[in-house]
Amino acid sequence: MGLERALERKPTGERPRFDPDGNRLVGSRCPDCAATAWPARAVCHRCGGPDVQEVPFARTATLLTVTEVHVPRPGLEVPYMLGQAALDDGGPLLFGRVRGLSEPVSLPCPVDLVVGETDEGRPTYWFEPAG
Ligand SMILES: [Zn+2]
Repeated sequence: MGLERALERKPTGERPRFDPDGNRLVGSRCPDCAATAWPARAVCHRCGGPDVQEVPFARTATLLTVTEVHVPRPGLEVPYMLGQAALDDGGPLLFGRVRGLSEPVSLPCPVDLVVGETDEGRPTYWFEPAG
């Protein structure tokens, strides 16, 4: 099946997850079945294909669900919003923080994906209302 080609790839922890110049997430897309994943996978999770390609994903998405969280966690003041969004280029469904959303929310709604840093300086992403 050619799975030995997957062994030639860098381990997951060493593959790029962010494209800081382009404000995008970098994941994988399978040329055989079009499955996408973030972070990138070495082998397609749907069909087992070994030829997945690293690709940057869209900066725009459609917010499908959102919830307000009232349970504190380090680095986040409550309440904060979490949501699930579908990237507009057929990329993977992503779960992440939603900032700047005002109530009431009418779903689905367009959002932008923003790449930034946590308070500790680690790369991360969140969603904001499109515009
Ligand atoms: Zn596949």
